[in-house]
Amino acid sequence: MTGGPSTAATAVPSLRARIGTLLVWDLVTGDKQYLPLPAHDCSGYNGAVLCAAGHTDHRDCHLCPFLVAFVFSDDRDFITSACIFSSETGAWGEITSIVIPDALVLPKPTALIGNTIYFLLDNNSIIEFVLDKHSLDLVEEVPYTYDQTIIMPTKDGCLGLAGVERFNFNLNLWSEVASIDGVVTWTHLRVIELEKILAPEAVSACMVGGIGAHAVGCAVDADVIFIDVYPRIYMIHLKSMKIKEVSK
Ligand SMILES: [Zn+2]
Repeated sequence: MTGGPSTAATAVPSLRARIGTLLVWDLVTGDKQYLPLPAHDCSGYNGAVLCAAGHTDHRDCHLCPFLVAFVFSDDRDFITSACIFSSETGAWGEITSIVIPDALVLPKPTALIGNTIYFLLDNNSIIEFVLDKHSLDLVEEVPYTYDQTIIMPTKDGCLGLAGVERFNFNLNLWSEVASIDGVVTWTHLRVIELEKILAPEAVSACMVGGIGAHAVGCAVDADVIFIDVYPRIYMIHLKSMKIKEVSK
């Protein structure tokens, strides 16, 4: 691997899977690359496209070599596996696997922190794929169960988590914090009362829909979080608390 792998919220290509292939799609240049899937039986899968050129500014990433870290689960034996594709070799590396009973990886935002990518499972636990050691491990459960949870890197390089409580529209932000003796625990950082910053008609439309509000993504560098308040998506700037609708 050249330099440290890194992702950017918008500058690196996105990843989509369709039958038998994985599409790496650069949404800025329109470039598409189809990769063969590393396995045929995936009941759940997720992945991340990583810069392999050591760029710190991912605006340079469009023509750079990339890696795809792909994690997939099989619902017959609950084996979850991970492997890495390199655009430089054009091939997938070795597959590493663990058994996690009754859990499948979810297609949700991943969190890259240092050399480790974190993935959410559908049983509210988190696995880590350590890229340089090529190891896959179950790390922990989420600290609180929301209808929809997302994980993210925090500004200070820890694992963070966001979720909206179903009945009160409160967006909760959590972060892992290590104590002096090295014990890592989840800390509840912040509660944002979405009802106070959303237009009343947005709240009532969402309530009529009965689906509730969900955290769906974030851009850590920009300090923003994206919230699905059915039927719209909003972007909240966490410093200024400005909120903006980004789609209908
Ligand atoms: Zn790059």
